[in-house]
Amino acid sequence: MDGHAFVSERIVTPDGIRPGAIIIRDGKIGRFLPASLIPANIEVHNFGESAILPGLVDSHLHINDPGRAEWEGFETATRAAAAGGYTTLVDMPLNCLPPTATVAALGAKRQAAAGRCWVDWLAWGGLVSESASDNQAEIEALAAAGVPGFKCFLIHPGIDGFTMVTEAELRAALPHVARTGLPLLVHAELPGPIDEATRRLQNNNNNEDADWRRYSTYLQSRPEEAELAAIRLLLSLCRQYKFRLHIVHLSASSALAELCAARAEGLPVSVETCPHYLHFCAEEIPDGATLCKCAPPIRSRENRERLWQGLKDGIIDLVATDHSPCPPAMKRLDEGSFKTAWGGISSLSLALPLMWTQAQQRGFTLTDLTRWMAEAPARLAGCSARKGRIAEGFDADFVIFEPEAEFVVTEDRLYYRYPVSPYLGQKLRGAVRATYLRGQVVFSDGQFPVDPRGREIC
Ligand SMILES: [Zn+2]
Repeated sequence: MDGHAFVSERIVTPDGIRPGAIIIRDGKIGRFLPASLIPANIEVHNFGESAILPGLVDSHLHINDPGRAEWEGFETATRAAAAGGYTTLVDMPLNCLPPTATVAALGAKRQAAAGRCWVDWLAWGGLVSESASDNQAEIEALAAAGVPGFKCFLIHPGIDGFTMVTEAELRAALPHVARTGLPLLVHAELPGPIDEATRRLQNNNNNEDADWRRYSTYLQSRPEEAELAAIRLLLSLCRQYKFRLHIVHLSASSALAELCAARAEGLPVSVETCPHYLHFCAEEIPDGATLCKCAPPIRSRENRERLWQGLKDGIIDLVATDHSPCPPAMKRLDEGSFKTAWGGISSLSLALPLMWTQAQQRGFTLTDLTRWMAEAPARLAGCSARKGRIAEGFDADFVIFEPEAEFVVTEDRLYYRYPVSPYLGQKLRGAVRATYLRGQVVFSDGQFPVDPRGREIC
């Protein structure tokens, strides 16, 4: 046999959805043909009505390995990814130990990942406080060592081992970031408005601690102003230092107008949101339901609809999972306290059906989904010449997806380390039937049939 042909009635290409055959040779996408013109010496896989999408790219998740592999780890995360239709993951520099803020730490990450990945991966570098390490000097070294960009926090990240940066520290680092030409991904919340809101909660409660079992308490403690103030600061820094700015997990839709204006001005800004902000709304989160805790928080139903509009208008470029697991005890399900529970929602194995369930109700197509979940994140992570699209010369990474199938989320469909999820019991639309990485099957009908073949791409 001289290669393979993947045939479907619905192949999702950058130019639209069409029937045909994709020729695959040596793990790469070759020609696109009508199925009737497939040469005789080619092995044909006919997926019929199932759609073929490009393998998804998740530009924001926490694998926690090395150092906190008991929270997740390369094996479990990449299997969950394969089950979810993701073929490329870009790991965040925090929650693992050491944080990926030095070239030595990047080496430790490469060692932890070696031979244990079912899909391809890259690692973001960390931009941390100067006092924590000589990080400024590390920025350009990390770029040379192959990270596709950097991540920083303007607020305490809620975990030890990764430090936030002050405005002064950020200013000192930005010329280095700008010189690399790589994007800086920022957790855009400022502490000021959050401290103030938390004080106000306490004053309103006669200095007693507020009722942290209530979701409304948590929501009030992290107001939209914290996101807005951070985004205003970042846009002005972007104007001054001319670096590529990426806002991770936007929750506050009130920031969309200013982000839109910044784009119109020509600033190099991109924006992401997450499935949980597009799926849940504050009105429906019961008190004590700490599985829904994340930062910034899930806001109102009206806010959710504005985020969908932001996607439609192209102000929000991409959807990443921010998959951030922890051992189940850290979700404090017994006490239900939004104050002490770990903030993070895991969705790596469900993101595609979650997004499709919501998106198709709003008139979006599979082409929109692949733009948000494959093409745009690949561009952010600097791998858009080989990942994120079904196009000649690209890696033969595919998701075989059944858009009309429905299923109820059960623990056995999660695949990451601990089957903890706010989505359990929900009925979703669209099922991942199989996932292919560079032409090889890495997930099929609940099975992972090959040895781990994923590798770092940089
Ligand atoms: Zn995150």
